[in-house]
Amino acid sequence: MNVILLGYPGSGKGTLAKDLVKEMSLVHVSTGDILRDEMARKTPLGLEAASYMTSGRLVPDRLVMDMIKARLGAETRGLLFDGFPRTVEQAESLDSWFESRKQSIDAVVFLKVAEDIVVQRLGSRRTCTGCGKIYNVISNAPAKENVCDACGKPLMTREDDKPGVIARRIQVYKDQTEPLLAYYRAAGNFHEADGGQAPAAVTAKVLALLKK
Ligand code: AMP
Repeated sequence: MNVILLGYPGSGKGTLAKDLVKEMSLVHVSTGDILRDEMARKTPLGLEAASYMTSGRLVPDRLVMDMIKARLGAETRGLLFDGFPRTVEQAESLDSWFESRKQSIDAVVFLKVAEDIVVQRLGSRRTCTGCGKIYNVISNAPAKENVCDACGKPLMTREDDKPGVIARRIQVYKDQTEPLLAYYRAAGNFHEADGGQAPAAVTAKVLALLKK
């Protein structure tokens, strides 16, 4: 099964994806995580992507598509995309890629959350520097301030979760990613879930939807 999660940055795609892969045998493909890893390792792709990412703009489609094909070419398990595709051009390339593999997208899930809520969530999000677990200092704080409950490593504020960059990311989403809702609605297999609920409730709802 191949699944795409859509939604604003901060709509809960990453948290949901981490839950879903525990329940279903899918591979979590977060282009944001992969790009941050490339950046941390200072690879040529990471160096090229860095200025786009830290300023809240999208990394060019060509780089993202090459990265996806290189990483997933040999993968035979079902894929759970989080943060990809982000443009209609990426969606079209993904369709052709799946077609060439004689596969298809089985479900697209849009996590619907109001804009003011995602802005607030992004501003209070903290990410573990060790395992990547996502916290929120207001609604889901770790037991010990700034320390990951799961692995004990320190938490950080992502460069692009800093106030100036958040507004840019929201605008980029509206301009470049929101058109994907119409694209996938027209393609069928499109589902909407209320992403404003607590994470466990969102996961239960989406799991039920995917297992139908
Ligand atoms: P995310 O972790 O999904 O919020 O992504 C963080 C940043 O990585 C984005 O703001 C973009 O700069 C870049 N990025 C992640 N996924 C993509 C994508 N599919 N296309 C272009 N840029 C991306």
